[in-house]
Amino acid sequence: MEFNEEKTIDETRQGEAIVLPSPSPLERGRGEAKKLFLESYGCAMNFSDSEIVASILVGQGYSTTTDETEADLILINTCAIRENAETRVRQRLTEFKKRKKENPSIIVGVMGCMAERLKAKFLEEEKIVDIVVGPDAYRDLPKLIETVEGGQKAVNVLLSREETYADISPVRLGSNGVTAFISIMRGCDNMCAFCVVPFTRGRERSRDPQSIVEEAKDLFARGYREVTLLGQNVDSYLYAGGGLKKEITEEQKKTATTFANLLEMVALVSPELRVRFSTSNPQDMTDDVLYAIAKHENICNYIHLPVQAGSTSMLTRMNRGYTREKYLDRIAAIKRIIPDCGISTDIISGFCGETEEEHQATLSLMQEVRNDFAYMFAYSERPKTFAEKNMKDDVPENIKLKRLQEVIDLQLKHSAEKVKAGVGKVHKVLVEQFSKKSQEMLSGRNSQNTVVVFPKGNFKKGDFVNVLATKCTGGTLIGEAV
Ligand code: SF4
Repeated sequence: MEFNEEKTIDETRQGEAIVLPSPSPLERGRGEAKKLFLESYGCAMNFSDSEIVASILVGQGYSTTTDETEADLILINTCAIRENAETRVRQRLTEFKKRKKENPSIIVGVMGCMAERLKAKFLEEEKIVDIVVGPDAYRDLPKLIETVEGGQKAVNVLLSREETYADISPVRLGSNGVTAFISIMRGCDNMCAFCVVPFTRGRERSRDPQSIVEEAKDLFARGYREVTLLGQNVDSYLYAGGGLKKEITEEQKKTATTFANLLEMVALVSPELRVRFSTSNPQDMTDDVLYAIAKHENICNYIHLPVQAGSTSMLTRMNRGYTREKYLDRIAAIKRIIPDCGISTDIISGFCGETEEEHQATLSLMQEVRNDFAYMFAYSERPKTFAEKNMKDDVPENIKLKRLQEVIDLQLKHSAEKVKAGVGKVHKVLVEQFSKKSQEMLSGRNSQNTVVVFPKGNFKKGDFVNVLATKCTGGTLIGEAV
């Protein structure tokens, strides 16, 4: 799983969270709820974890706020996927120093992948930090807070063989009341050479499918009309009673719940509930999943399938577990079984040893697939990864950035073509909010995950509207309800 850390989910959704005007921590009377300020960086999985943490702490009497000046407890959910993701967290911690100076009783904690990567070292490197808690230890937060209130620093970065937080009902943070994430599994058993996730999120374990269906039913009953099933590698989802995936026996696999099974179970909650998922993996994606998507109208025709590079030689060095041919075979299967499927991907430019020829292979693969959208990055060496230990980050920065720009330029061309192809067609749009540009226009996405904007008429958030697209901008279709 990769996500655009340039824009935190918090920032994009800030201002919609619950804010109750109240006195600052110093003036708060006895028995008044303490305030939790939670800021999330990185991928959707991190954001979903923040909702689980909010639920645990609201259960302890906290209430959430998006105003850091009101906070008694500040938690940053950190990302370690690239150097600049960590730099941003350190900058924020510097900014919080001012808060702590104003009120020394404020508790500052770091959670997520950077916390897991650095562990207790985080306390040495950032003196303002009181708590370091890893992705599998969030249940321990109340005790860690107590330890800090007792005058100590607190750390829990134990990774778990069972933890999926299946019994915790997330508190929806900054929600639009229409779409929500549901985490279906934790960890990753793949060992892509550039990736820190297996070290920061541990081994794969899938969540009980019944608890996932119950969460989807609860969200539907509360008016949500779309759920996104989240996992580092959803195609690897396999439930046979809990615990680590790698310990599931061949016998157990015969009756285990697969991702295709789970998709159908969630789709059957209601035909009025849209189902999306992220992130898929070419190594594990089966035709069963594609047939399940084709069978249920409410499972969206959109797949995020990271490729990372276009040559088998590079994919082998990255330890991605598939070849260029295998990837193209998966793309061909998608186009055969779900002809109008939207497809997006991830690409890394300038990984160790990348030749001009391998770069050209990435461009030619993009030309062949013509993705709707892509997340594109220059390789950023990460500590503890296989690549950091065994390979040289030897592609000069200017070459990395030149190649990345070529990848971006090609993708922008393909994205514009794909959006343009949607003009003149009718799209079933789930209304999520007003358009950013006008309160007279509503905005939502079609099944292929393309943003569609149209005059509001009598429609409202949560409605499914058929929209005839009459024109488009770079990434958005514009039309009329029909
Ligand atoms: S599949 Fe690879 S890139 Fe994705 S989280 Fe797992 S190790 Fe990282």
